[in-house]
Amino acid sequence: MAQIIDGKQISKQIKDELKEKVAELKEQGIEICLAVIQVGDDPASTVYVGNKKKACEYIGIRSESYELPEETTEEALLDLIGRLNGDDRVNGILVQLPVPEHIDEDKIIRAISPKKDVDGFHPMSVGALSIGQPGYVSCTPAGVLALIRRSGFSIEGKECVVIGRSNIVGKPMGMLLLRENGTVTICHSKTKNLRDVCKRADILVVAVGKPKMIDASYVKEGAVVIDVGIHRDANNKLCGDVDYASVEPVAGAITPVPGGVGPMTIAMLMKNCVESIQIQAFAKDQES
Ligand code: NAD
Repeated sequence: MAQIIDGKQISKQIKDELKEKVAELKEQGIEICLAVIQVGDDPASTVYVGNKKKACEYIGIRSESYELPEETTEEALLDLIGRLNGDDRVNGILVQLPVPEHIDEDKIIRAISPKKDVDGFHPMSVGALSIGQPGYVSCTPAGVLALIRRSGFSIEGKECVVIGRSNIVGKPMGMLLLRENGTVTICHSKTKNLRDVCKRADILVVAVGKPKMIDASYVKEGAVVIDVGIHRDANNKLCGDVDYASVEPVAGAITPVPGGVGPMTIAMLMKNCVESIQIQAFAKDQES
């Protein structure tokens, strides 16, 4: 029987630690503020934005909400981001993705100051991660790393296999595991013999975006299996990229869906907001 890695409990622990830290900062007269921008009223985005605001409230971070109509122009959005970049009261800026099709997502990501890029998507943040400098780390892979570490598993010297090479999950996940001295392989849609490569893994992170694709035949006995995927199956039940029923008896530890990686993403966003204080101080230091 595998150890179940409880993302709900670990994320709560992280949020409680952050709450204390934010209270300490408040005593020093420092308030953290996150600006959250949503363009249009996509129902899933509205739920995500709502959850982020709720988490801010719980921790004591002030959230400023900008709900813009679907027809907002790219220019108007860039203008708002520019204003928030220059506003010293605002520590973090988050634009809920996806943005409507008439807006260039990459341009928006690049417009957010790397000092306030709490989603960690800006090329400067990605670059900082790859050369080991202070910067924001993309929230989902940062959450996976926290799950592994806080569950007591060491990464150093371990065979780590990541399935998926997206800019927001797979690639930063690989960089993070490398930073922790894992021996990292990143697999993707053109990888040959995926099953054999996965079978080598002591730590297997699955972000393939295909419901229940990874069954026990991909998993080494005793491996730590982290399932980043989130889908609804034919019965409208949430499931991951891992076939949990098949893998759980083989794995040493496994994350469930829901209740695994999902709750960690917002916790790490909150962590990035709190860390903005140090990242901004580091940037100021570099500038002077
Ligand atoms: P994506 O679609 O951008 O990337 C999927 C990756 O899997 C690609 O790099 C592709 O090369 C690879 N891939 C596709 N088919 C493959 C195959 N047959 N064999 C090997 N590799 C293959 O997805 P993403 O944005 O990285 O997200 C991955 C999953 O994680 C999705 O299920 C998504 O819903 C979920 N997700 C969850 C959270 C969270 O907070 N829990 C956050 C982001 C993404």
